[in-house]
Formats: sequence, C-alpha cells, structure tokens
Amino acid sequence: MHHDIAIIGAGAAGMMCAAVAGQRGLRVVLIEHAARVGEKIRISGGGRCNFTNARAGPQHFVSRQPGFARDVLSRYTPRDFAALVRRYRIAHHEKHKGQLFCDGSSQQIIDMLRAECELGRVQWLQPCGVRGVAREGSGFRLETDQGPLQARRVVVATGGLPVPKIGATDYGLRLARQMGLQVVSPQPALVPLAFAAEPWRPFAELAGVALEVRVACGGQHFDEDLLFTHRGLSGPAILQISSFWNPGDSLRLDLSPGNDLGEALWLAKLQSRQSLLNALGQFLPRRLAQTWVEMQRLPSDRRIAELADAKLKALGASLCAWTLQPTGTEGWRKAEVMRGGVDTAELHPATLEAHKVPGLHFIGEVVDVTGWLGGYNFQWAWASGYAVGMSV
Ligand SMILES: Cc1cc2nc3c(=O)[nH]c(=O)nc-3n(C[C@H](O)[C@H](O)[C@H](O)COP(=O)(O)OP(=O)(O)OC[C@H]3O[C@@H](n4cnc5c(N)ncnc54)[C@H](O)[C@@H]3O)c2cc1C
Repeated sequence: MHHDIAIIGAGAAGMMCAAVAGQRGLRVVLIEHAARVGEKIRISGGGRCNFTNARAGPQHFVSRQPGFARDVLSRYTPRDFAALVRRYRIAHHEKHKGQLFCDGSSQQIIDMLRAECELGRVQWLQPCGVRGVAREGSGFRLETDQGPLQARRVVVATGGLPVPKIGATDYGLRLARQMGLQVVSPQPALVPLAFAAEPWRPFAELAGVALEVRVACGGQHFDEDLLFTHRGLSGPAILQISSFWNPGDSLRLDLSPGNDLGEALWLAKLQSRQSLLNALGQFLPRRLAQTWVEMQRLPSDRRIAELADAKLKALGASLCAWTLQPTGTEGWRKAEVMRGGVDTAELHPATLEAHKVPGLHFIGEVVDVTGWLGGYNFQWAWASGYAVGMSV
C-alpha cells in the first residue's frame, strides 16, 4: 500500500494532522495501537476537555529552545480552533484565565476530529501497532501488526509518557533515537509534588485543605490554588510550578499573597483582643493556621496582645516565605504531560521535519514543547498537527 503520509498515533495532534492533510487531497493513513482513539482528550479537563486557551502564546510553553513554538503557534491560533468548535455547534465556555471548556463532554471534540478525518478520507488502521520504521527509496517502509506499508512521509504523533494504562508509549522517542535524533530527557510535568514522609507528617493531616498562594521556583512564579494531599502538594499552583522544578530545587511559597502578615499581625495586636488563631484565621484556612502555630510552638489560644512583636513578625515572615524541598513528583501515573521529548534543535521550526531525516516529522507532546496548565497543551497539539498537515 502506498500512502502520501503515514501518521503514527490517533490522539489530538495525529487526528488534526490527518484531517488537514487529507482535506488537501493527500492519501493519509492513521495508525493507532489502542482500542479507542483520543483517550487523553476523553479524560481531559475532568471529562469536559479544556481544548484551548484564548490567551495562548509562545511564553506559555517550556522547551530547551524557548520560543521554538512561535512559528507553529502563529499559523493556527486558539481562535482558529474555537471557530472549528463553533462550526460543529459544540457549546463551550471560558472558565478561568482564558481556558475554554466544552459545556457537555470531551467526546464531542473526539467526534468532531473523527468527522474532520472522514472529510479528508483518512484511512484508519486501528487497533494496529507499529513495529518498525525504516527508510526505503525516497520514502519509508513501516512494519505494522497488519502488514507492511509504504509512505512518502511519516508523522510521529505518539504523545507523551503520562497515563500508560490508556495507551501512552515511548515508541516515538525510541524511533527518534533510532534515527539518530537527540531527545531531551523526558520528565513528568503538571504533576503533584511529594515530600519525605516524616517531615510531612504534620501537613498530611491537612489533606483536602486548599488556598490561593504564590509559588516560585526556577525563576518562574504562579498565583493559583494549592491543595494539601497526604503525600505532598497538588492543585493548579503546584502542577504549574512542577514544570520548572528539578530534583534538588526548593519551592518558595507565600501562603497569603498580597498581605504582609508580620505587619497585619502587629496591627491586629494593637487593635484587638482576639487570639492568635483567630487573627491568623482571617488570612489562612483555620486548620492550616492551627498546624502552623503548633509547629512554631506558639500558644494558639493566647491573646495576640500577649505575644512579642518580634515573634509575630517572625511568624508572619515564615508564612509569606515558606521554603520547602520536594523529594520527587508523583510520577507518570499522575502527570498530565511530559516535559522533554524530541529535541527541537533537530526539527525545522515551521514544518517540524527532522533535519537529519527528510520526510520524518514529529508533532504534539512527543516534541520538547510543553504547555502550561490550562488548554495550552492541546493548542500545541492542534497547531503542530495543522503545521505538518499543511506543509507535507
Ligand atoms: C488526565 C489528563 C488531563 C489532561 N487535560 C488537558 C486539558 O484539559 N487541556 C490540555 O490542553 N491538555 C490536557 N492534557 C494534556 C493533553 O491530553 C496532551 O498534551 C495531548 O493529548 C497531546 O496530544 P498528542 O496527540 O501529542 O498525544 P495523545 O493525545 O496522547 O495521542 C497519542 C496517541 O498515540 C498512540 N500511540 C502511542 N504509541 C503508539 C504506537 N507505538 N503505535 C500506535 N499508536 C501509538 C496513543 O495510544 C495515543 O492515542 C491532559 C492530560 C492528561 C493525562
């Protein structure tokens, strides 16, 4: 069988690329090894798919080569994808900081992409694994579970390593290495962070407590919600900063952003007869305030007026600059995306074609371009799929 393009992986990027190339009249075969397509789309956004972010720009992506995504992102924007969603009459809404979600179910996005593939007369091979890809003449020969096939170009859209139980594999990374391309070490990202059991014990009891914080690490900071868990920290603030965290790094947390708590407690001392716990409770969830005061060995029920100014200042400062060192992440099972992947230095910034292997392209999460939390990763999948679908 001869095809213009063989695409490996029918996820977000693969389906987009297949639809675009097919609708341009190219003979496209889309190969997916899992029993169901678009599984990550289905489970995304709590089942409602945060399908893009209206404010997405190159600054919202992490890569060894910052700004690499600029060209691709500029040619297919969040507005373009939102227009496609509207064309299919999929009701949606903006939730938080530009994040666009389906009102109904993420299945609507999968159905839309399948319909777009239909329009492009895309041929599906599914379920069908790819066992090998090799150069043959001016194109490629693929060994698949359903026999060999030839294609002029191959597009690798196998995604990242998170959630292996729904189909994630490292095949794209192995193929890249086999073809002599550099791979930036893959790491779990947008992932909860864990701490050593013993020092974490007092905080483990706070599991379920959430509050807005400022978290900083690796020259980046986020103002978002944080969630205490039994083993560590989660919530949007932590998922975001996890993309900038490396083993050995410390996090710095301000548990009451925008407030100088030392000053606020000193004022409370002057103006009221309340207890320390009640004073702190105006700025923090009460359970957290209680734990914090106990850890500082301060008497929570004493009137704030009885405490020395220096103690109050030190207490306030400790809450505004809590420094702590995670021992690791919660790993691939809990990560939303993979950081790292095929080194962008190996790829043309407009066509995502490997410089060393003409005709071989990489799109989506398998590339070392990782979006922040909030619809950015899908925008990269759509835009990179579109770029290659239009360029081949
Ligand atoms: C729980 C969760 C929630 C998420 N929520 C959001 C969200 O709301 N918004 C957002 O922007 N991002 C979200 N993401 C991230 C987003 O899902 C991914 O970044 C995006 O799906 C990447 O698209 P992709 O096409 O590169 O990879 P995928 O969508 O993962 O597709 C890769 C496909 O390749 C197939 N495959 C793998 N290996 C092979 C092989 N050897 N042969 C054949 N097929 C193969 C896989 O089965 C899969 O179908 C979420 C991720 C998770 C895990």
